[in-house]
Amino acid sequence: MNSQFDFIVVGGGISGIAAALTLAKNGCSVALIEAAPKLGGLLGSQSFFHGNEELVFDYGTHLLRDTGNKVIDDLFIKPFVNKNYERYQILKNGNFFKGKLNASSPFINANFLNPNDYTQGEIELFHNASLSKLIEPKALSEYDNCEEHLCEIFGKTFYENIHRPILKKFYGRNGNDLIPGAHSLLGLSLLMVSTPEKTRELKKDPILNSRIGFHSFHEGISDLVSYYPTNNGIGLWTEELTAKLKDWKVKLYTASEIENINSNQNRIEAVVLKNGEEIQCQHLLWTVSPFSLIKILNPNFFQGRQFEKCSTSLYHFISNEAPLTDLYYFINYEPDMLSFRTTLYSNLQNKNAHHPIRLTVEVISPTPIDPKVAEEKIQKELIQTGIFSKEAILTSVGHFSLPNGFPLPTHSNAMHHADALNYLKSHSQNLTLLGKENANLFFLNQVLTHSHDTALKLHHSFNQDFRQISL
Ligand SMILES: Cc1cc2nc3c(=O)[nH]c(=O)nc-3n(C[C@H](O)[C@H](O)[C@H](O)COP(=O)(O)OP(=O)(O)OC[C@H]3O[C@@H](n4cnc5c(N)ncnc54)[C@H](O)[C@@H]3O)c2cc1C
Repeated sequence: MNSQFDFIVVGGGISGIAAALTLAKNGCSVALIEAAPKLGGLLGSQSFFHGNEELVFDYGTHLLRDTGNKVIDDLFIKPFVNKNYERYQILKNGNFFKGKLNASSPFINANFLNPNDYTQGEIELFHNASLSKLIEPKALSEYDNCEEHLCEIFGKTFYENIHRPILKKFYGRNGNDLIPGAHSLLGLSLLMVSTPEKTRELKKDPILNSRIGFHSFHEGISDLVSYYPTNNGIGLWTEELTAKLKDWKVKLYTASEIENINSNQNRIEAVVLKNGEEIQCQHLLWTVSPFSLIKILNPNFFQGRQFEKCSTSLYHFISNEAPLTDLYYFINYEPDMLSFRTTLYSNLQNKNAHHPIRLTVEVISPTPIDPKVAEEKIQKELIQTGIFSKEAILTSVGHFSLPNGFPLPTHSNAMHHADALNYLKSHSQNLTLLGKENANLFFLNQVLTHSHDTALKLHHSFNQDFRQISL
């Protein structure tokens, strides 16, 4: 059997969904190929049974947020966030660092350092901000590595005492082994210094404003609203988007793997599935790893190269007691602890509706960890951080290792990645690379916006080409 489409989109995460919906809404015929049984990727939820009770947990991003772009919000967010979603103008997120829970702001409180280090760090931070005013601002790519960038922004003392141990905890590397910007995926873009009052004054300076954060999430609030389903996981949103794709006649191939790709003179003509089905297209949009495409097109291309990885796992728990905090989520930056982000669903959702109390702890680690060891360590950490009382009983419900979680942003990985993209760009004229794996983007709204905008441009140029052929 073979079929023919204007566009084939590979990967049914938010990138593939956004591209397919945009193209279909503009009248193109689209096929979407997804390896898993359901669409959603990192915006999915999974169910576990505890006794007879079905408990829902997410496996990646939890919250939706307006992008601020009306066209995108009207297509992907506003039609879905109805009475079944909670709305948040303020996100209550905190962090744990130097044995203390900062339950009022997501930014690390540099005041938690010992007084000498704090004083020296603050002097360097202000000195560097004054220097920055005298020189041309540098692009991120002009820095040699993450350490050089962080030292220039925050100073050597804050880097040594804050950023270096945290980069080591999650990536197992020092900042000079990582690309500039590697810290931003871990929520380390701003630091909390000084007092709340002085910070309000300091933030009037644009350079300091980009380096230091308010002491409370109640300050500096944006107009953009965040959302989470009241009685479900975030997978509800991608299920609703899947229904929309079907309404717009996108042909969905779920649980489908690609065996081969037929090309002719720098043009991709068809994708062949493992079941032998051939799907022809005018243009291919690839939203998954570029390495998996190269493996099909040229299996020898990366022979002998070493790829470095870090591992991302999710640990789902229930508790017999409510947490001692009303934070929605917090990041554990303590170098000796294992956890990364903990999300407390019972604080996000209608408290009365959900029993028992559910939480997900994400672990990013340089090497994989035995799940039993990790579970025990996380249970202890949840009590040590003061999130749960010493009497709380935390029961593990399940864990999940993400095949494509957090990237490991080392120089050599960045080089392999750039080589892969260059190879693919030169291989085919009718191939577009999208998504977190290809576009040097990570956060949900960045990926959504990029995929939507790129698909719209493709639709316009596709229409022009088509008109030229018809004439
Ligand atoms: C643990 C974690 C937490 C995160 N938290 C946040 C957050 O709080 N806020 C935020 O903004 N962002 C967050 N992100 C980032 C954000 O979720 C992702 O960047 C975004 O969802 C990526 O979408 P995507 O479509 O590019 O990729 P994915 O969601 O990874 O989707 C790729 C899809 O392709 C499928 N696939 C893979 N290989 C193939 C193949 N060969 N053929 C067919 N299909 C294939 C996969 O099954 C998957 O469905 C988080 C990421 C992680 C890992």
